[in-house]
Amino acid sequence: MSRLIPHLLLWVITAGAPSLVAAQDPVALRAGRLVDVDRGEIRRDQVVLIRSGKIEAIQAASTRLPTGIQVIDLSRYTVLPGLIDCHSHLIGEAATADVLQPLERSEAQEAFSGVRNARATLLAGFTTVRDVGTYRAFVDVALRDAIDNGTVTGPRMKVAGAYVTVSTGAGELVGAAPDVTIPAGFRFGVANSADQVRERVRAILNGGADFIKILATGAVFTRGTKPGVSEFTEEQIRAAVEQAAEYGTFVAAHAHGAEGIKRAVRAGVRSIEHGSLMDDEAIALMKQRGTWLVADIWNGDYTDSVGRAERWPADILRKNAETTEVQRVGFRKAVAAGVKIAYGTDSGIYPHGLNAMQLPYMVKYGMTPMQAVRSATLSAQLMEWQDSVGSIAPGKYADIIAVEGDALADLRSFRKVAFVMKGGVVYQRP
Ligand SMILES: [Zn+2]
Repeated sequence: MSRLIPHLLLWVITAGAPSLVAAQDPVALRAGRLVDVDRGEIRRDQVVLIRSGKIEAIQAASTRLPTGIQVIDLSRYTVLPGLIDCHSHLIGEAATADVLQPLERSEAQEAFSGVRNARATLLAGFTTVRDVGTYRAFVDVALRDAIDNGTVTGPRMKVAGAYVTVSTGAGELVGAAPDVTIPAGFRFGVANSADQVRERVRAILNGGADFIKILATGAVFTRGTKPGVSEFTEEQIRAAVEQAAEYGTFVAAHAHGAEGIKRAVRAGVRSIEHGSLMDDEAIALMKQRGTWLVADIWNGDYTDSVGRAERWPADILRKNAETTEVQRVGFRKAVAAGVKIAYGTDSGIYPHGLNAMQLPYMVKYGMTPMQAVRSATLSAQLMEWQDSVGSIAPGKYADIIAVEGDALADLRSFRKVAFVMKGGVVYQRP
């Protein structure tokens, strides 16, 4: 073992416990169906050659392979690029009836929950996430770095660091008595003027975040706030966009209400998160400006059924009902209008690892199966990572998954991802 050079090894992690298995580099994946998301087509009987964690070539299965090469046979499977969830919350525990739950847990507990969540996300076939915030600032930065340096098993991450929110707004931890002071670590991104927004954006990016998440309107899960109500002015959101641009990065705006969506789009944010109450003008504006929509159109059903069973606060259930079906109607219109749509599920509202549940919903609300799969892969472009992930193409990371049979015939098949490789390392195999 010691004579082998680590980066030339293929690590195979099986049955929950990491183990180093002697698989040689390069390696070939034999694919019965290979999904070419760039061209929107499926090619039969292909071989993907992988060397040093990257895709080297794609060739017909009949082409001769280098002698002695290790072959992983996925000829009964549909082979796709690793999926991308552009709206995850990997830090902490999933939502419960207890809205002050983060206050009852230490930072270390939040981080260890993140370790478990990251693993569940990767094994569900999501090899990349854009993680859009945590109540405890910068725990996401630590998780991203621990994954990058090999300490933790998880997806590639871009992280938001903290929420940029008005005080008592959608990104605040609310529900405590009015005379209780919430610790500063939970309020890192609180800002109430354009100048304060700039100052907090600098602090968050200097703290190691990759991009900025701003809460432009009220939220479903933040008690007291109203999804339809704008919380920042257009000028304040623009301050965030301009400051982020100084750092070479972008802003993602949580926005349910139509007015909040329009302010955020006009201010130049890169993506609208949720978009639940978008009207025709908001859709036209997103299309015109090239703003991405990241609409979590599955989890409303989860929140409704689990929330009722577990007696979550009535105002959360009401706001969830008021933003679920209308969001799906808007989603269908946005698809028809040709708005750029990235896959994002709001994982953390539901337990991590169920990220693929939304895929069939996107078909139900107007996409073809190929469009839905492209949305969950080519959204690497939203993350500005299109050169390294998002499709199976030479030079990109070998982030590759496989689903049994003809996966695009029924996207519910993505609930069970049989094979997961990230950076040439196999984390799950049939
Ligand atoms: Zn969210």
